[in-house]
Amino acid sequence: MTGATLSCELADITCLRVGAVVNAANSALLGGGGVDGAIHRAAGPELLEACRALRGCPVGEARLTPGFALPAAWIIHTVGPVWQGGHRDEAELLAACYRHCLQLAGRHGIHSLAFPAISTGVYGYPREAAARIAVGTVQTCLASVPAVRQVIFCCFSEADLAIYRELLAV
Ligand code: ADP
Repeated sequence: MTGATLSCELADITCLRVGAVVNAANSALLGGGGVDGAIHRAAGPELLEACRALRGCPVGEARLTPGFALPAAWIIHTVGPVWQGGHRDEAELLAACYRHCLQLAGRHGIHSLAFPAISTGVYGYPREAAARIAVGTVQTCLASVPAVRQVIFCCFSEADLAIYRELLAV
């Protein structure tokens, strides 16, 4: 572990003033429901144009765009796995999302980032298992990404907040 700060809070990720917010996108990167829809609405139509130019993103990978009208300077778009019962590499793919987001943030000198609970909405990943992967992967990967000093797990429900609080022991 490095001296980076890990925390969790109950918030709408579109309101967070951080270096980058992570978007739980779909592989077309052309917007959708849930957090993806909220980010596109708040960032404004320029985001869709920027996403079009990226020509999609495979599951487990990550792509960067400006934050446009968001308070966050950047948006890191990642595509989580759809939960199919747990035997289709869902855990590895979800971990890869967190790892690739951190690596992308590090390469661009982004010091703070906020993650939503990737894959736990429409994509159906069980919340507690997903949170365990999120926290464990970030804790492991931060050591090799010294540029990142602060990571916020942005929870959208009290239930998620309780899970993250327990995992982070805060
Ligand atoms: P996925 O398709 O990856 O499952 P969803 O957007 O459906 O993505 O859900 C991912 C998580 O984001 C869920 O836990 C959902 O409650 C949460 N979420 C939805 N809107 C917001 C928001 N505005 N800010 C933070 N988290 C959000």
